[in-house]
Amino acid sequence: GAAARAADLWKVYGSGEAQVIALRGVSVELERGRFTAIMGPSGSGKSTLMHCMAGLDSATRGQLAIGDTALNGLGDAGLTRLRREKVGFIFQQFNLLPTLTAEENILLPLAIAGRKADPQWFQTVIDTVGLGDRLGHRPNQLSGGQQQRVACARALVARPEVIFADEPTGNLDSRSGAEILGFLRRSVTEHGQTIVMVTHDANAASYADRVIFLADGQIVDELTEPTADAVL
Ligand code: ADP
Ligand code: ADP
Repeated sequence: GAAARAADLWKVYGSGEAQVIALRGVSVELERGRFTAIMGPSGSGKSTLMHCMAGLDSATRGQLAIGDTALNGLGDAGLTRLRREKVGFIFQQFNLLPTLTAEENILLPLAIAGRKADPQWFQTVIDTVGLGDRLGHRPNQLSGGQQQRVACARALVARPEVIFADEPTGNLDSRSGAEILGFLRRSVTEHGQTIVMVTHDANAASYADRVIFLADGQIVDELTEPTADAVL
């Protein structure tokens, strides 16, 4: 089965004159071990789609699942547990805890879930993102690119069913951004990780296996094996 699914997903914010229909019947399956990019104009529903699929936001209508688990009917506690056990997040703003070291940040989601990191896998992740001599540093002692490496390691170390990345290169210079995209690409190709990424950047999307284009709350186009030229 798919790593994550949405079927006829509708999301309506507000009511009356303030009502906004953010998603209009979106259906998408994220196959295991693939890297999917979501593109589209500002306001087209990209973040809403990610947040609903990740169990951060509730659907107005439609079915959602992560792996074998349906999100419909899970309460807040059930959704929180599902995110902890099955989902990884990478944000534009890194979202690291400032008082923790890089290593403590990386291990925090596992610690919260009451799980221990497999030492060999932890080492593989650290080697992949190239953080070896920075593990004892706090976020304010790290560059933006290094902070995002920590966030990537934090997402990868738990081997989640799916990683949701929201503009992961949006705050990085092009060189650091390319490094991050390279780690994400490798984690898919070499380790079978499933990743979905929202991006404005055609070059970033070209690292994906598949690009979905949203406009006005609907999927309007899709590309497989994208190149930056094709995405533009
Ligand atoms: P994108 O990520 O593509 O920029 P969003 O998913 O953020 O799009 O937004 C889709 C639409 O939903 C926009 O019209 C936006 O203004 C609206 N929207 C998003 N979040 C909220 C919210 N919490 N309350 C009301 N409207 C929202
Ligand atoms: P924005 O897209 O507005 O900059 P973020 O991408 O930082 O916001 O966060 C998007 C949503 O995810 C917010 O509702 C936030 O509360 C939630 N969130 C942020 N960090 C985490 C996390 N580590 N685990 C679960 N939810 C989170």
